[in-house]
Amino acid sequence: MTDTSEPTDGWDVVVVGDGPAGLTAATFTARHDLRTLVIGTGDSILRRNAHLENFPGFPAGVNARLLLDAMRDQADRAGATVRSGRVVELTTADDGSDVPGFVVGTADGDRVETRYVVAATKNETDYLAGLDVDLVDHGKTFVATDAHGRTSLPGLYAAGRLAAKPHQAVVAAGHGAEVAVTLLDDDATPFYHDWVTPAGYFTGRGREVPPGCEEIPDAEWRERADDARETMQRYLAEPHPDGPEQHPSVVERDDGE
Ligand SMILES: Cc1cc2nc3c(=O)[nH]c(=O)nc-3n(C[C@H](O)[C@H](O)[C@H](O)COP(=O)(O)OP(=O)(O)OC[C@H]3O[C@@H](n4cnc5c(N)ncnc54)[C@H](O)[C@@H]3O)c2cc1C
Repeated sequence: MTDTSEPTDGWDVVVVGDGPAGLTAATFTARHDLRTLVIGTGDSILRRNAHLENFPGFPAGVNARLLLDAMRDQADRAGATVRSGRVVELTTADDGSDVPGFVVGTADGDRVETRYVVAATKNETDYLAGLDVDLVDHGKTFVATDAHGRTSLPGLYAAGRLAAKPHQAVVAAGHGAEVAVTLLDDDATPFYHDWVTPAGYFTGRGREVPPGCEEIPDAEWRERADDARETMQRYLAEPHPDGPEQHPSVVERDDGE
């Protein structure tokens, strides 16, 4: 990976997996100025969905590939770096301190250092094999977590389906957000809520704007609303080029005929 955006002293957060859980977790950590890298193979299971009808905010449903593109762009706009790649190894970076640290190895031979890892790879756990992290087998392999996505290894979190959450896109995305907020909290990053409010919402009551929150004046929220409308119009101007992906065993059967 040749990338000039690589921080010289490593990343704060590497998110492994670019489905709804990973991309949402990255959006939250990046919005709070943790240097966040997402590494993913781009094959979220959601790509198989034919039409996504239970994700909030889309009364007539949404093309799941389009939603994934939008989530990726949102993580990018929040300040995360999103790269294609397969993570094949995760090891702890033993620097003798109490601060967590990891080295993330990819299939193309790159190594990146990070303080925290959010694993969001559905049932893919091979890259965790070298770590002392508790897994759970329910027919498929999941990572054992506490109620907020912390694994048995400090600094390593699991989000979405990998953490055995219900197999629904909105749950995975919501859990990604919850895990990210837990990470921010564990990191002692000053954080109250990730809220954007009208000017005066806090200061008009004599309060400081809490960490993580932003007050914006009328002109600013109108500008952002215009940008949002134009952005969504661009997304929806043409049908998305990608249709649903078929189950691999069905594809194999078709090929055999
Ligand atoms: C046919 C079908 C239809 C569905 N329809 C719906 C529906 O209508 N409504 C609904 O709510 N849910 C639906 N789902 C479920 C939904 O897709 C999942 O619950 C959701 O995608 C889980 O999100 P996740 O981020 O945990 O995992 P995923 O979306 O699978 O994301 C995991 C990511 O990890 C990446 N990855 C894996 N291994 C590695 C690695 N070693 N290195 C780097 N990256 C890696 C993958 O590329 C992928 O992007 C459907 C699922 C299927 C199969």
